[in-house]
Amino acid sequence: MYKSVIYSIIVPLYNEELVIDETYKRLKSIMDSTSEDYELLFVNDGSSDATRKKVEKICVKDMNVRLVNFSRNFGHQCAITAGMEVSIGEAIVVIDADLQDPPEVILEMIKKWKEGYDVVYGKRVKREGESFFKKFTAKAFYRMLKNMTSVDIPVDTGDFRLIDRKVCNTLNSLPEKNRYVRGLVSWIGYKQTFVEFVRQERFAGDSKYPIKKMIKLALDGITSFSYKPLAFSGYLGGISFFVGILIMVVDIIKHLTGGISIINFAFLISIDLIMFGVMLSCLGIIGQYIGRIFDESKGRPNYIIESIINDRKVDKKHDSVN
Ligand code: UDP
Ligand code: MG
Repeated sequence: MYKSVIYSIIVPLYNEELVIDETYKRLKSIMDSTSEDYELLFVNDGSSDATRKKVEKICVKDMNVRLVNFSRNFGHQCAITAGMEVSIGEAIVVIDADLQDPPEVILEMIKKWKEGYDVVYGKRVKREGESFFKKFTAKAFYRMLKNMTSVDIPVDTGDFRLIDRKVCNTLNSLPEKNRYVRGLVSWIGYKQTFVEFVRQERFAGDSKYPIKKMIKLALDGITSFSYKPLAFSGYLGGISFFVGILIMVVDIIKHLTGGISIINFAFLISIDLIMFGVMLSCLGIIGQYIGRIFDESKGRPNYIIESIINDRKVDKKHDSVN
């Protein structure tokens, strides 16, 4: 029976008792309209309200619904990761529980997948009913991240996306912790495209992303994909060093032409700046090594092969069997 599941819809849930029934209804009606087999995979990320009870009730009457319960709150990205590991579909969609990502867009994503795309991400062209602070910080963050990394992480996209089974398997094989899933999906490559949508207002309840979780997500995004913060002290050191040298040279010239004493306040400051510059530059060098150690510890493969045409290795294996 499992073999026939075509679509896995992963829905992370953290204290979503106010939205879960409506979300289930909307997702069910959309997925039923495909006339293909699917699973609705709810991941309960340690909710302390009635979310678990409500989904368990749905599970009893609908065999297409599966529920994964975490032992405590591990966070949105962990919930998505668990969903991907448990999923069995050929195409996997991640969608927020609060209906900010309209379920109808899934049908557009499926259409693109059937055209041959391996990743179809949802691009938010407009955000309805969110505070100025949320819109501003999100916009600024996505653009900053884009400028800081060599991986092409599209701006204004969250985790609402469809991925093919092979992309999901690759993601599952990556051992790194502190995952920034949307960045990893971009990093993996394959044939990617997007569909545009208007991000809706939350159906009910409040955001489960307080500022602390937002900062953690942003830091995971930046540190997972950029060396630039590590190089920062090096740049600062360089600036400090050259300003120090400049002040010292001006001071020496003044001393030689105007007869002022060489040991004065500006001269002492210049020595300070030069020493500070040397120390920060050394930290920057250490940062470069730490960056490389960090890369090794993430254990990402150096490359991902999509296919090999006329693969000799397969032939060889074949030969040895015969
Ligand atoms: N979520 C989760 N664990 C958390 C926080 C959030 O699984 O620790 C889920 C939440 O239930 C929702 C999705 O992640 O399905 C996005 O959260 P939310 O809508 O609150 O974030 P926002 O849209 O405000 O950024
Ligand atoms: Mg939301």
